[in-house]
Amino acid sequence: MDGGAVEFVHDDGTGPYRHCPRCGGSLVERVVMPHDPPRLVCAACGFVFYLDPKVAVGAICRTQGKILMLRRAIEPAYGKWVFPGGYVDRGETLEAAARRETLEEIGADIRLTRLVGVYSYAGRPVIVVVYEAEVVGGGIRGGEEALEVRAFAPDEIPWDALAFRSTREALMECLRPRAPESPGARETRRD
Ligand SMILES: [Zn+2]
Repeated sequence: MDGGAVEFVHDDGTGPYRHCPRCGGSLVERVVMPHDPPRLVCAACGFVFYLDPKVAVGAICRTQGKILMLRRAIEPAYGKWVFPGGYVDRGETLEAAARRETLEEIGADIRLTRLVGVYSYAGRPVIVVVYEAEVVGGGIRGGEEALEVRAFAPDEIPWDALAFRSTREALMECLRPRAPESPGARETRRD
């Protein structure tokens, strides 16, 4: 198969799917619509098993001029640094998922301040939505998925030990100098 093969495996990379989730029949690869890629179709009942993207959310959390990151205690990317994040549950808002994951992973209550970016990559099942946030409460401590939690100044970010491509790209975007909000804002600066 071509590059579409990745779409037919489980999200954890162990694949492929073999059985119909509706009747247990065998799934076969078949072109359903002429201009679409092949789909997994049940040979017994005709059920089309669409494999949709998964949505993950992350929060770049700022506190006292630093950025909170955790070192992953789970695969993939065990031992690498990432900002808190995880999969969005069905029916959950992106914002609620970002706050929930941050509380679970580093113990912080946050307020989201802006959308940093949305990251997707060819052949990859996960779409990552990244927010910037400020810590407004809670106690900073690592959850079960963290080896440690640390606050990094912008010039201390461990660029060579980040967990994912989206981690690097979102941090670069977040730390990129931005134009002042308005000409007036520039004129009143005193630093
Ligand atoms: Zn079936």
